[in-house]
Amino acid sequence: MAMERATRQRDAIRTAIEAAKRPLSPREVQQEARSKVPGLGLATVYRNLKSLAGDGIVRTISLPGESPRYEPAESPHHHHFQCVTCRRVFDIPGCPGNLRRLAPRGFRVEQHDVTLYGRCSDCNKRGGRASR
Ligand SMILES: [Zn+2]
Ligand SMILES: [Zn+2]
Repeated sequence: MAMERATRQRDAIRTAIEAAKRPLSPREVQQEARSKVPGLGLATVYRNLKSLAGDGIVRTISLPGESPRYEPAESPHHHHFQCVTCRRVFDIPGCPGNLRRLAPRGFRVEQHDVTLYGRCSDCNKRGGRASR
């Protein structure tokens, strides 16, 4: 049944994002969700991500110069770490807080993003040679 397959695809994609505990690229979503929906195509992943974002279930993480990643929309305030070697993005729980004082006098801060860049523990262990 086409309808059933569509539901299964959407559920698998949603579950992959919720289980990941870090923002996933569409390709990573595809890899994770394929264990439940063999043959899942990238175009289908993109279509479902768009619809899940439109329904407020997932949200987009946009880092400069990177294609979007996706994470559950209801995650509490947190920040990200991007590995410069494998390009994966990880969650950093918590927040340095009180960034308002960095703004010039008379300016009002409404929101902030903090992204740390470096090597993840996997890449660090491998000695850090660039590999994609
Ligand atoms: Zn890495
Ligand atoms: Zn913060």
